[in-house]
Amino acid sequence: MAITYELIKTCKQTGARLGKVHTPHGSFETPMFMPVGTLATVKTMSPEELERMGAQIILSNTYHLWLRPGEDIIEEAGGLHKFMNWNGSILTDSGGFQVFSLSDLRKIEEEGVHFRNHISGEKLFLSPEKAMHIQNALGPDIMMAFDECPPYPAEHKYMKDSVERTSRWAERCLEAHKRPHDQGLFGIIQGGEYEDLRRQSARDLTSMDFPGYAIGGLSVGEPKDVMNRVLEFTTPLMPDQKPRYLMGVGSPDSLIDGSIRGIDMFDCVLPTRIARNGTLMTSEGRLVVRNAKFARDFRPIDENCDCHTCRNYSRAYIRHLVKANETFGFRLTTYHNLYFLLNLMRQVREAIREDRLGDFREEFFEMYGFNKPNAKNF
Ligand SMILES: [Zn+2]
Repeated sequence: MAITYELIKTCKQTGARLGKVHTPHGSFETPMFMPVGTLATVKTMSPEELERMGAQIILSNTYHLWLRPGEDIIEEAGGLHKFMNWNGSILTDSGGFQVFSLSDLRKIEEEGVHFRNHISGEKLFLSPEKAMHIQNALGPDIMMAFDECPPYPAEHKYMKDSVERTSRWAERCLEAHKRPHDQGLFGIIQGGEYEDLRRQSARDLTSMDFPGYAIGGLSVGEPKDVMNRVLEFTTPLMPDQKPRYLMGVGSPDSLIDGSIRGIDMFDCVLPTRIARNGTLMTSEGRLVVRNAKFARDFRPIDENCDCHTCRNYSRAYIRHLVKANETFGFRLTTYHNLYFLLNLMRQVREAIREDRLGDFREEFFEMYGFNKPNAKNF
């Protein structure tokens, strides 16, 4: 098996899991946050910087790499790890989510999905077999099954048909996967907010014995309490001895609440995207560095943070760079936000080890301001 999971312990206070995922490119501790490097780069960060900040696994997007530069070029380079000079673990998604979120004029058939390239307008077709072929060429440690990610909200009838098709596609993915010895394929449990459909999807997929499972179709616009409720009834349906990945979730509160509900892996573009906008996550909540009040503020972004940015640069300097659209400013803000989330997950793992994740959640939410009425999401 390319991917194995080791459960170290569960938190007595919350049930959260402390574990390790072993991959052909090393092991990473869980719960873990995976920075997103859509086009084989985490925007503005070098692989050396990612390693220095403690990233152990990153995510890349099949859809984008398929369109440019093309999976054949990456295969010729010796795979994604060599192409981008990243020696840690890599997970790629299946391209399904981008087909459903970026392209218009898509048409879903049993065979696959017809759609238009969001850059050139060219007609394209993606299917379970094609998604496996591309990911086998890219060569990540973990690849994802091709699924449909329906919008929120979706009617029960639509969702049921979609879940059943996703199960049939998952079987075709397993059959088409050519490198199970060195690439682990994860199945994706869908079903929206419907407990019966999540149950059906989990039953179908766990019977196929994937080396890991993801929960898809969350963080697509539903309220936080809906997400938490879905996690509460879905994670108990997933095998204990395999990793569990919650797709597309990366706000600090959701990382903690997801861990408490038994999730091991998370990814999201949120920290890097808001960084390029000058918004920072800090131990005292959100900080919008463009604000005029920081013009003469020579303190670090986060006085409790020991990242490279906070040890060396001031709010005033970073504000100036971001306002002047200087690339270096975006590098500094991106570094801090990723470090902040990786460090948050280190604290979550420590709290699980010491059976106090519930207390940690209370303290963190209080400090960050999540307990205030009208609190922002991140
Ligand atoms: Zn920092």
